[in-house]
Amino acid sequence: MSRAYIGMGSNVGERLENLQAAVMTLSAALPDIVLIARSGVYGSEPVGMTDQPDFLNAVVAIETTLDPYELLSFLHEIEIARGRQRITRWGPRTLDLDILLFADVAQDGPDLTLPHPRLTERRFVLEPLLEIAPEAKLPDGTPLRSVLDALGDEQATWRTDDL
Ligand code: ADP
Ligand code: MG
Repeated sequence: MSRAYIGMGSNVGERLENLQAAVMTLSAALPDIVLIARSGVYGSEPVGMTDQPDFLNAVVAIETTLDPYELLSFLHEIEIARGRQRITRWGPRTLDLDILLFADVAQDGPDLTLPHPRLTERRFVLEPLLEIAPEAKLPDGTPLRSVLDALGDEQATWRTDDL
């Protein structure tokens, strides 16, 4: 089994329900996936295209027998089942599921980059991740707590709810 952290985001429709549906699907994927922990739900203002509704984000920890590519395609299935339309990058989305960390894998590829390339820039990902995994580290050993502490506070992020 490998430990992985999945970042979830939604800013269209019933945002909390979209996140909860993703958690339900992941927790029903036994024995391939075992849900270990779920963060609270965090609100944040959109980055990039700012003319769109606020995001809700959360992070879950899993143990999985899947390899990273199998996990990614399972996450894509969940996104599609929830009606995600990939219209514009950075644009509004019903459900976005990203692999933030997968064990100590560090790789750069066209389909899958690990750790997630924008993990270290995003307060709305680091806050929920550190809520459930305060000791989480990058594959090179850098504690994510120190990455979060070094981020500016211009990205407003607030805890709104439980998952
Ligand atoms: P983003 O999440 O960056 O806003 P998308 O969800 O549309 O954008 O992702 C586009 C592509 O990013 C996916 O089809 C996937 O192949 C690729 N990708 C690369 N690394 C990762 C990762 N760690 N987790 C999820 N998707 C990834
Ligand atoms: Mg994504």
